[in-house]
Amino acid sequence: MTDEPDGTGTDESDSDDWDVLVVGGGVAGLSAAVFTARADLDTLVVDGGDSIVRRNAHLENYPGFPAGVNARLLLDLLGEQADRAGCERREGEIERVEVVEDGFAAETADGERLDAEYVIAATKNTTDYLDAIDGVGVIDRGKSFVDTDERGRTGVDGLYAAGRLAEKPYQAVINAGHGAEVAVTLLEDDDRPFYHDWVAPEGYFTDRGREVPPGCEEIDDDERRRREEESLEIMREFFAERHPDEQVTHPSVRDE
Ligand SMILES: Cc1cc2nc3c(=O)[nH]c(=O)nc-3n(C[C@H](O)[C@H](O)[C@H](O)COP(=O)(O)OP(=O)(O)OC[C@H]3O[C@@H](n4cnc5c(N)ncnc54)[C@H](O)[C@@H]3O)c2cc1C
Repeated sequence: MTDEPDGTGTDESDSDDWDVLVVGGGVAGLSAAVFTARADLDTLVVDGGDSIVRRNAHLENYPGFPAGVNARLLLDLLGEQADRAGCERREGEIERVEVVEDGFAAETADGERLDAEYVIAATKNTTDYLDAIDGVGVIDRGKSFVDTDERGRTGVDGLYAAGRLAEKPYQAVINAGHGAEVAVTLLEDDDRPFYHDWVAPEGYFTDRGREVPPGCEEIDDDERRRREEESLEIMREFFAERHPDEQVTHPSVRDE
């Protein structure tokens, strides 16, 4: 994609191949990654580290947290969930994405090349790294958004936009939900056998003479208890003490 100083092009041996590259690891990107990784797609999330939700003072309308949750902690939880689903996360900025023969090639600010069959862009209002791709509709309303259909597809096969970037309302749960929806759309477009990502009790399908559908899993009571214990242990660790990160405020707000 980019020329090396000697004009020979990026060294292919530096290439890193993925099924799915998620650009942006805020709430939308991490949610999307959980779904693609759980569907066994090799998923990489590259994130610049400044999800806007870090600016929130206390997140009180994200389902599942009756007294609210520290938004930095929510991001940690989403990251842990993506890790456990099998996705890889890296800190960094994607500077450029372009279409290549069998998907996309992306370049990081460090000059690293990443190849992926699919790209999910979840970068809130950053779109400049998509400039090299014909057919991406960028909407300028003072801030930039990417034009998509109702399931997050852009005008370019294999390229999706999720969350606020796709003009979804400016609410964390909606952006997270949209990330999940876009990932499921990608799975459907990929034509892979997929029904739902469900964990069901033993016999739920099989006792009715059905195969366990692709994407689903049946677990017995022992396994259910084991998973619940593990979940309690992990949540106790995450909620054991106050989150160490300071809340981030708007850059224009000056210290007294
Ligand atoms: C002060 C404040 C308070 C808020 N409070 C609430 C609230 O109480 N309830 C609520 O529902 N919502 C709240 N929100 C909104 C919520 O934060 C957003 O809806 C949500 O974070 C958007 O999710 P997203 O994944 O689309 O974008 P983000 O979470 O912003 O994630 C985008 C990510 O993309 C990364 N990125 C950008 N460009 C690149 C690139 N080129 N390469 C790699 N990574 C890149 C960024 O670093 C960032 O991590 C608040 C927002 C603010 C500003």
